[in-house]
Formats: sequence, structure tokens, C-alpha cells
Amino acid sequence: MEQTTVQGQSNLVREVLEKGICVRCGACVGICPYFQYHDGKVVVSDWCQTSTWRCVQVCPRLPYDRASLYDYFYHVNDCTDAIGPHRQVVAARSGDKLVRSAAQYGGVVTALVIFAMEEGLVNSAVLTDRGGDLAPKGVLCSDREAVLGCAGSRYSASAALSELNLAIQAGNDRLAFIGLPCQMEALGRLSLSEPDGQERAGHVELKIGLFCTWALDYRALRSYLKTKGIVEIPKKYDIPPPPSEVFIVETNNGRMEFPLSEVREIVQPGCSVCEDMTAEFADISVGTLEGDKQWNTVIVRTDKGMELFEKALRAGVLEQKEIPSSNLEHLKEAASNKRKRALRARGEESNE
Ligand SMILES: Cc1cc2nc3c(=O)[nH]c(=O)nc-3n(C[C@H](O)[C@H](O)[C@H](O)COP(=O)(O)OP(=O)(O)OC[C@H]3O[C@@H](n4cnc5c(N)ncnc54)[C@H](O)[C@@H]3O)c2cc1C
Repeated sequence: MEQTTVQGQSNLVREVLEKGICVRCGACVGICPYFQYHDGKVVVSDWCQTSTWRCVQVCPRLPYDRASLYDYFYHVNDCTDAIGPHRQVVAARSGDKLVRSAAQYGGVVTALVIFAMEEGLVNSAVLTDRGGDLAPKGVLCSDREAVLGCAGSRYSASAALSELNLAIQAGNDRLAFIGLPCQMEALGRLSLSEPDGQERAGHVELKIGLFCTWALDYRALRSYLKTKGIVEIPKKYDIPPPPSEVFIVETNNGRMEFPLSEVREIVQPGCSVCEDMTAEFADISVGTLEGDKQWNTVIVRTDKGMELFEKALRAGVLEQKEIPSSNLEHLKEAASNKRKRALRARGEESNE
């Protein structure tokens, strides 16, 4: 089966890195020794001489037949629902105040990862750390404290798939991966890639996706914050839903708000061609609940996701409530708009 029209490492370099549309998902790093992730950038250390082209097969910025992913994961050829195939959409939050206080919003992601570990569904999980001297990056976590230490959103990409690739190579099994829609797509492509993608992807037992409209270029973000006098690692970032139009940064010195219009200038160019807002190839996708920051919107997609979610509810690890229909409408509208923008940017749909 032909997966993509572009083959070979040099083509990936030309079509993705040189065009500036790499989204730093990390899928090519670790799967090939000649790609590395350093401080917010994917760099090439040498030319690859093999003909497996694993990097090309997994890169979410290269053309791909999306229908093959729908078919593989959901046994359908297409999906007309703007938020992708799913079993249910609800509002939920962690039942544990401590988790909620550490988390970005309702703490569903953190709570589910800890629960999946405690229940033995997974041995460990690849999450995104807070960053230090260098950009946030993927980190392998095996206990509650480590997972809690990763709670919260860093609005720049972290190449966490590189850490997943390394964890798989080191023989780790029954892994969870938490990531953005581009990373879920890359993991999906990995499942369908030759020569050993299915085997590699089989080490991942649970995929939790985050909603994402775009991610920032880390180095540009660091420079931007510097111009605002922020040089320490922020404690928390937030982008409240429209119409607020602000980017919030919390540090030890307090909370500051900046115009979102300024921050949009440093969005990764590669995000403009991404058509997925809700991480359609995850078992469970999680985002904010518009109008109530103490809760999450949760899309449960697969049987495995449903089983874990229901078990977590029964154990009191999660609480749920019905999602207001207006929230669901807004979510679908936002997801549909992201798809339209991406198709236009890719020249696959005329302007409307
Ligand atoms: C770049 C980005 C853009 C987003 N855009 C939207 C949006 O447009 N609409 C929306 O509803 N929600 C968006 N989210 C998701 C939202 O910010 C929360 O992550 C989500 O609602 C889960 O909330 P929670 O309270 O369960 O998270 P928590 O329990 O705090 O868990 C958050 C998890 O996210 C992981 N994480 C943090 N930063 C990153 C990163 N850069 N890459 C990958 N994983 C990371 C952490 O490892 C942690 O496990 C975005 C998140 C990111 C990182």
C-alpha cells in the first residue's frame, strides 16, 4: 500500500523542515538515528542511507490517505462528524481536589493516566515535562508523583513522540501516550508503516489526545516572553476560550495577560495545515469545557477508552455531567473551522 507520495529522508527535509512546517511532534526522532530534538527544534545530524523511510511514513506533515486511518481504527472510510468518530461526549473532571489543583482544567488527563497505572492497564506513560533551561520535552513517567509533575499545558510542541520511540526501543511495554492531534496522527501512521510499525505501535496500550487549535514555536515564545520581562519558567499558561482573546502567563511574580493577536504571530507555521482539532486517533480526547474551567470536555472514542472511562467513574476517580448542547455545537464549529482552514491552506478546498 502506498502511504505517501514523498519518499526518502532528503524529501522529508525538503518538504517539511526546509519549508518550516515541522510541528515538532517527535515521530521521526528516535525511530531514525539521524533526527534529533534539541530545545524546541528537530534537527538532522546526517544523511540516512537506508530505504525503509520510516521517518516519511510517520511524519504528519506529509500527504497521507486519511481514510486508511479511519478504516484501520474505526472500520469506516470517512467521517463527516467534525469531532471525528466517537462513542460519547461528556463533561468530566477528576474527583480528587489535589489533582484538579495541579491540572490545567478538570484534571481528567492526569487522573486517567494515574488510574490506568494503578489499575495495571499501563506500566508507564510518556507525558510532556515543564521544561527547564531548554524547551519542554517528552518524559517517561512510572508513578503518580511524576505524572502530577507534568500536569498543566505548555502551549509549545514538545516532540514527546521521540521519548516514546526511545521507550519502545528500550523494551518498555504497556505504555500510555499523551499528546496533541498531530502526534496521535503520527502514532496512527506508525501502526500502518513498514516494516515493523504495527509491532512498535503495539507497545502503546492507551492514547489520550488533547484538543489543539495550534501550538507555539518554543524559541519564539521564549523570546516573546523575554520582551515582556519574563525569563523564568512560567508556572502556568492559559488561553481561555473566545471571546477573551488573551494569553495568560503565571509566574512566581504574578499573573500577566497578553493580547492573543501578538501570540498568534508565533504559532508554528505547520499548524496551519493540520485539520484535526480533537485528536481523532486517540482512545480518549480531552479539552476545556467552555465556560467552566474546573471541568473538561471528554470525547470517548474507542472500546478501550470507554472501558477505562467507565471504570474511572465507578471508582470515583472521575465525575461526569452532561455537556450543554451549546458547548457541543461550539466545539463542532471550532473543529470544522480548523478543518476548513487547513484544507484551504493545503489548496484542497476553494475559499468559502
Ligand atoms: C499546545 C496545546 C494547545 C491546546 N489547544 C486547545 C484548544 O484549542 N482547545 C481546548 O479545548 N484545549 C486545548 N488544549 C488542551 C488543554 O490545554 C488541556 O490540556 C486539556 O483540556 C486537558 O486538561 P486537563 O485538566 O485534563 O489536563 P492535565 O490533567 O493538567 O494534563 C495535561 C497533560 O497535557 C500534557 N501536555 C502539556 N503540554 C503539552 C504539550 N505541549 N504537548 C503534549 N502534551 C502536553 C501534560 O503532560 C499533561 O499530562 C491544548 C493543549 C496544548 C498543549
